[in-house]
Amino acid sequence: MTIYSLDLRGMMDDEQTLKVCVGCGGRCCKSFPGSAFPEDFGKTREEILPQLVWALSTQTWVVDTYKDQRFVRPAYKGESQGFGSSCSGDECVFLRDNGCELKYENRPKECRYLKPHVVAEKFKCNTSFNKQEASVAWSRHDDLISDAEQKVKLAEKRKNWKAVERIAI
Ligand code: SF4
Ligand code: SF4
Repeated sequence: MTIYSLDLRGMMDDEQTLKVCVGCGGRCCKSFPGSAFPEDFGKTREEILPQLVWALSTQTWVVDTYKDQRFVRPAYKGESQGFGSSCSGDECVFLRDNGCELKYENRPKECRYLKPHVVAEKFKCNTSFNKQEASVAWSRHDDLISDAEQKVKLAEKRKNWKAVERIAI
């Protein structure tokens, strides 16, 4: 993993971006984890479900809601498995001193598309893929969220993490 803070947003090819993000130190990751989209977990529903089960079982990914629609995002630091947790600002569980610990391609879509932008020392970084778009995308696969939650809860109850491992392969 690169040690630049820019790795927070994976824009290593852009020198200007590098300077902006290094100087900033990742305030976006410190205020709210980026929203994940269904395609972050797989191309088809058959691929998405096992990956989602695995992700939720690690407790580093959680289900959140935006305007009554569920979506998935990385957990805040210290946030326990929070099915239906509410949105409040805090630091992303994947943020380390040297940047995001996830490889660029494994980061939530919102993180991959966020564009650093600073005007008159004010941060106006933006992305076209925020939690609103994420919740719309997940609305077509809400049943997968329910299925994944159920499987994780069942595995927890039975203390049968082998089953989660099997389904996640
Ligand atoms: S995208 Fe913006 S807020 Fe995030 S690290 Fe870069 S400059 Fe900072
Ligand atoms: S997943 Fe990585 S890039 Fe996205 S908010 Fe968390 S630390 Fe930042």
